[in-house]
Amino acid sequence: MPIRALCTICSDFFDHSRDVAAIHCGHTFHQQCLIQWSETAPSRTCPQDRIQVGKKTIINKLFFNLAQEEESVLDVEFLKNELESVEAQLSQKDREKWDNSTLSWIRPS
Ligand SMILES: [Zn+2]
Ligand SMILES: [Zn+2]
Repeated sequence: MPIRALCTICSDFFDHSRDVAAIHCGHTFHQQCLIQWSETAPSRTCPQDRIQVGKKTIINKLFFNLAQEEESVLDVEFLKNELESVEAQLSQKDREKWDNSTLSWIRPS
């Protein structure tokens, strides 16, 4: 299941439009929120675990390894093809069944 991570400063989910920054304790926030927070917070502690944060320990930009959009499109195509081939097999089986019953009706064993 994909991680739906959010910034606890503004409680918005991370997306492509805003950079994500991290504190050395491991917590992640929007870069903008973190800058704002570091300017307004009386004590520079992590909003989540109150660990002391030095400005130099902030990682200003995180790069996520995002899955390519094309992959999900390919997946749908792949499944469609699979479905079609299964359906084709089914109708083939149906036809065979029909042929067999027709034959047995014509030539009872
Ligand atoms: Zn934020
Ligand atoms: Zn933290």
